[in-house]
Amino acid sequence: MEILNPGNEDYHIHSINYSDGLNTIDEIVKFAGEIGLTKIAITDHDQAYLDSRNFPRKSYRGIIKRWQNVFNDVEVKFGIEADILNSKGDVCMDIQGEESDFIVLSTHQNPPYQEDSNTITQAYLNAIERFHDKIKFLGHPCSVYHGDNVDIVAVTELCNKYNVALEVNGANLSTNRTNLKKLHQMLSIANFIYVNSDSHTLYELKTVRKFAFEYLKEKGFISNIF
Ligand SMILES: [Zn+2]
Ligand SMILES: [Zn+2]
Repeated sequence: MEILNPGNEDYHIHSINYSDGLNTIDEIVKFAGEIGLTKIAITDHDQAYLDSRNFPRKSYRGIIKRWQNVFNDVEVKFGIEADILNSKGDVCMDIQGEESDFIVLSTHQNPPYQEDSNTITQAYLNAIERFHDKIKFLGHPCSVYHGDNVDIVAVTELCNKYNVALEVNGANLSTNRTNLKKLHQMLSIANFIYVNSDSHTLYELKTVRKFAFEYLKEKGFISNIF
């Protein structure tokens, strides 16, 4: 198992501009510099997720093409946390019709997932087969949202086949929204792992990756804390 971002890189962050974070992109980037992050991805939820929760449109997505970092040297990518929608593996990869080449593949509750949770493994497998060349990693694949229905061994093996990474999600881990048995199964067989915050607040940006690394050390998956 190789952790692809052992240092000061965090690739799962939500903003208030495009989804359900509490801080603006500029607040996040400024604070990221202050706490020593060097590379981040702001990965707001896709349009299907936003619509399913009646999120109002706050900022026009097209403007990010004109955004530049005026605070520090933190490298910033704009990605999308893209929901799998059904067992065919259809995925919503846009915000306001604008796609990204930095896709975090996730599932959340129904909606935006359109079927019963017992189809969720097939949904993952089909989505990975269809879109593995676009997916940077699977976001919180061991979350409790679909109970025991995710066959994490089958999902991890397919990710390994296509060199897709899987995520250890700091926010979920620190708030007891992780199925720990599945997390341990995943970590014991996964080739590539990212450790990200999934922060929706500056507090989470500052603390929950560290929490995740301490957990991994305590459980013997890593020997030192990055
Ligand atoms: Zn969110
Ligand atoms: Zn998520």
